[in-house]
Amino acid sequence: MGEKDLDNLLKQLASPAKVPADAWRALLAMSDAGQRAKLAFLARDVAQACFGKGVFVRALIEISSHCRNNCNYCGLRCSNRLAKRYRLTKEEILDCCRQAAGLGFNTFVLQGGEDPQQSDEWLAHVVAAIRAEFPSKAITLSVGERSMAGYSLLRSAGANRYLLRHETANAVHYSQLHPVSMSLENRLRCLENLKALGYQVGSGMMVGSPGQTVEHLVEDLMLLDRLQPQMIGIGPFIPAAGTPFEGERPGSVDDTLLLVSLLRLRFPRALIPATTALATLCEDGTQRAILAGANVVMPNFTPLHCRTKYSIYDNKKSSGSESAQQLDLLAEKLDKIGYHVDFSRGDYNEAER
Ligand code: SAM
Ligand code: SF4
Repeated sequence: MGEKDLDNLLKQLASPAKVPADAWRALLAMSDAGQRAKLAFLARDVAQACFGKGVFVRALIEISSHCRNNCNYCGLRCSNRLAKRYRLTKEEILDCCRQAAGLGFNTFVLQGGEDPQQSDEWLAHVVAAIRAEFPSKAITLSVGERSMAGYSLLRSAGANRYLLRHETANAVHYSQLHPVSMSLENRLRCLENLKALGYQVGSGMMVGSPGQTVEHLVEDLMLLDRLQPQMIGIGPFIPAAGTPFEGERPGSVDDTLLLVSLLRLRFPRALIPATTALATLCEDGTQRAILAGANVVMPNFTPLHCRTKYSIYDNKKSSGSESAQQLDLLAEKLDKIGYHVDFSRGDYNEAER
C-alpha cells in the first residue's frame, strides 16, 4: 500500500462516519513492517493524548473455574476432564478485594466461568458486600451470559462495568467456536441489555481463533463500531489441553498488535487492555501492547492456591508482572518504556470522546 493510501485510510478511522468494509480489509492486509510500525506510533500518540503515560491497573480476581458452558476453545469448558475446578467463597473474594485496595487499586474485576453455584442472587450478595466496604471503587463483572433480570440485580447491587466479548461477529464462525446451545444472537442481546442497564460495557474477540478469516475480523470491527463499547479486550487465541482445539495453532502476536493499534485509532478513549494472552505468547507482550496503543493491565489477585487452576489456555501467565505479588516488576517494565502505573479508577470518559 502506498503512503497516500495509508493516510487516506487513517483519515477514515479518525472520522465519525462509518468505516467501510473495504477500508478495514485494506488495513488488515497491511503487511509492510514499516507501515505497521507507523500505525503503532500513531496509535500510542492517540492513547497518550487521551491518557498521558499512565496505564490503568485493575485487580483481576478469578472467582470460579466451574462452567456450565462448553465453548470449544476454552480450558474451563464443562466437558474438559483435565480442568481443575475451584470456586472462591464470598470471604475469599472480599479478602482479594482488601488486598488489592491495600495496594491502591480502585477497580476489582470478578471473572469466572458460568458457575451454576454462583447464581445471580449469590453474586449480587457478594457485589453488595464489596460495594458496602468499598463505596468508591469500580466493580467489574465478567461472568458470562445472564438474563436481563440477573444483570439488573447485579447492577442494583453495585456493579459498574461488565466484560463480555462477542468472540466473533459472524454467526457461522460463532457456531464453529461454540456448542449449539449458544448463539451470537443471544450474546448480542446480552450486550444490548448490559448497555441498557447503564453498565460500562467491554467486548472484543480472540485473534486467530480456529476458522477465523480476515472477513470475520472485518465483521468484528464493524460490529464494534455499532456497539461502541467502552472497553475492548482482544488477545490471541491459545490452544488449551483437553479441548477440541488443543492441536490448533495460536493466534499471531503481530496481528493482535496491529488490531490493538487499529482499535485505538478508531476508539481513542476506549479502555484497551494489554491482555494476559499476549503476555503468555510473548515475553514483552505487555510493553508491546502499550506501545501499540493499549492502556490497561490487569494484575492477578486470585489466591495463589487456585491460580494455576484457572487454566483457560495452556501455560497461562499468572506470575511475574502479571501477578499482584510482583507489582514492582510491572512498574519496572512500564518505566523502561517511559510509562507508569495509574491507580485511579479509569472510568470511560464520554465527554472527551
Ligand atoms: N465465562 C466468561 C465469558 O466467557 O465471558 C468469562 C471468562 S472467559 C474464560 C474470558 C475470556 O477468555 C473469553 O471471553 C475468551 O475470549 C477468553 N478465552 C477463552 N479461551 C481462550 C483461549 N483458548 N485462548 C484465548 N482466549 C481465550
Ligand atoms: Fe465458560 Fe467463558 Fe470458558 Fe465459555 S469462555 S467455557 S463461558 S469460562
